[in-house]
Amino acid sequence: PVVTRFAPSPTGFLHIGGARTALFNWLYARGRGGKFLLRIEDTDRARSTPEATEAILKGMAWLGLDHDGEIVSQFENAPRHAEVANELLAAGKAFKCFASQDEITAFREAAKAEGRSTLYRSPWRDADPASHPDAPYVIRIKAPLEGTTVIRDQVQGDVTIRNDQLDDMILLRSDGTPVYMLAVVVDDHDMGVTHVVRGDDHLNNAARQMMIYEAMGWDVPVWAHIPLIHGTDGKKLSKRHGALGAQEYQVMGYPAAGMRNYLARLGWSHGDDEFFTDAQAQEWFDLDGIRKSPAQFDLKKLENLCGQHIAQADDAALRREIEAYLEAAGLPALTAPQAEGLERAMYCLKDRAKTFPELLEKAAFVIAERPITPDEKAAKNLDTVSRGILSELTPQLQNASWNKETLEEVLNGFAAAHDTKFGKLAGPLRAALAGRAVTPSVFDMMLVLGRDETLARLTDAAA
Ligand code: GLU
Repeated sequence: PVVTRFAPSPTGFLHIGGARTALFNWLYARGRGGKFLLRIEDTDRARSTPEATEAILKGMAWLGLDHDGEIVSQFENAPRHAEVANELLAAGKAFKCFASQDEITAFREAAKAEGRSTLYRSPWRDADPASHPDAPYVIRIKAPLEGTTVIRDQVQGDVTIRNDQLDDMILLRSDGTPVYMLAVVVDDHDMGVTHVVRGDDHLNNAARQMMIYEAMGWDVPVWAHIPLIHGTDGKKLSKRHGALGAQEYQVMGYPAAGMRNYLARLGWSHGDDEFFTDAQAQEWFDLDGIRKSPAQFDLKKLENLCGQHIAQADDAALRREIEAYLEAAGLPALTAPQAEGLERAMYCLKDRAKTFPELLEKAAFVIAERPITPDEKAAKNLDTVSRGILSELTPQLQNASWNKETLEEVLNGFAAAHDTKFGKLAGPLRAALAGRAVTPSVFDMMLVLGRDETLARLTDAAA
């Protein structure tokens, strides 16, 4: 069974690149009935904060990237990491190194002066334990001295490293704390991770991590190192290109489904398909489809996909997501009647909105409460003549059946009787019902508001 994981270091918010890494792992596991695990890599005590962990979890929750099992804290596994280092020591695959920092520096300087490799070679590697001093030591792995290590990467292809370029890296520091490289391997192994999908900035680490797998005789996971994300100018994604935090996109009012769809397309493709559902993404996602070149973050494409996801979303689900958006953005919550009105209106709002603020702009008529205050443009449509027209029209709507056909008949008939076009009526009606000049169709507004509210607004405006 497939087991993937997302292993963020809790040193900041969930950035776009991290969100995409999490998504790829989630898609891969979910599409194969596997497990998607979450490990917080909090070994670096100085840089890790609980606030960052919180922010990462919130970002993942927004994106709907649910993980299986308990969240693993890497720091809490430190005793287990030390145990593995000691196991390697006992098996002769690692050694105690008593060299001081000064000796190591001196070694490097001499190597440099003589034009030799500056890779540190400890004299303690093959020393007889009987000769060990009673002094602090680190535990180093015995790196292979010849041959090559091949990283069989699903994205990068085979990456071959000469073993004489691998040093006897430290596994356990003199204070007994494990190094990050050891922690990752032990945790991945113990968590049963079968596929490691992560940023290609970790490709070099893979070669060193493989030494530990080899030494322990553990199965090496399938590697997939994914290229970074760039801006549309081809440069590494930075603040200049817009928001970097995944959750900032929630605050800007992008739907999570659109964001997932867009992030999935960022560096991965399935033919020419741009728009897809979660179910399709889970079915289609494969490591083969990941491109080798950096992906470009393009806000226009994100918006386009978000518009499509809003248009086909379930009305009730959309309403709930908009309420969550308002909270995340620190905007006033909707009252229950406003939220219900919004949901009823959804059918005429969701077709051309790319973001929630755009959708809410169109929803102003159903969110507004009486008395409706017309904005400057709408006020121009409520002059004396228009108010007269509205007060004549209102009684005719009193007994009309409240459906589109009848309302059309009444309004068109009224316009004809006044020797004018319906278009002339629309401005005053928009102003009366929404207080705005640009709104959804007059009929949709009347249907959503219902007879009583419509007549009350018309009466208010005519007065
Ligand atoms: N903690 C690492 C990071 O945030 C990821 C390590 C890994 O995926 O192996 O970049």
